[in-house]
Amino acid sequence: VKALTVRQPWAAAIAYGDKRVENRTWKAPGLGRVVIHAGKAADWDAPGMAWTAAGLAPYGPGCTRSMWAGSLALGEIVAVAEVTGCHDWTRCRSPDGTLCSPWAARGQWHWVLGSVRPLAVPAPCKGALGLWAVPPEAEAAVLAQLIEES
Ligand SMILES: [Zn+2]
Repeated sequence: VKALTVRQPWAAAIAYGDKRVENRTWKAPGLGRVVIHAGKAADWDAPGMAWTAAGLAPYGPGCTRSMWAGSLALGEIVAVAEVTGCHDWTRCRSPDGTLCSPWAARGQWHWVLGSVRPLAVPAPCKGALGLWAVPPEAEAAVLAQLIEES
């Protein structure tokens, strides 16, 4: 199974929130199952909507990173999803200029996600750039949970 590393709180916004578009500078090589891996480093500049969708209070001035980091899965696979579509941002504009989702960004490829299933027990795993193959041990931990749930 292939994985996509997404920085927090974006990864949690996919796993536990309603983020169903992942913005990338490159087109998805194909559709199908992908696991969402939360990177080791958080995106501290993420907007409030991402923190809220992740189930957290927005990170901002006066907040200590260690408190927030303690509430985030970092360096772990947090969800399993399906890439159900992928299009260039210029293909999703409606006449009034809005994009396909409040999560969609201009100038990016929009990877449309469906069937998102958060893992009850996030699986620790090293991340990588691009779409990468999950090592056997982590994959087994993920698949075991999917079987238990179904
Ligand atoms: Zn779009």
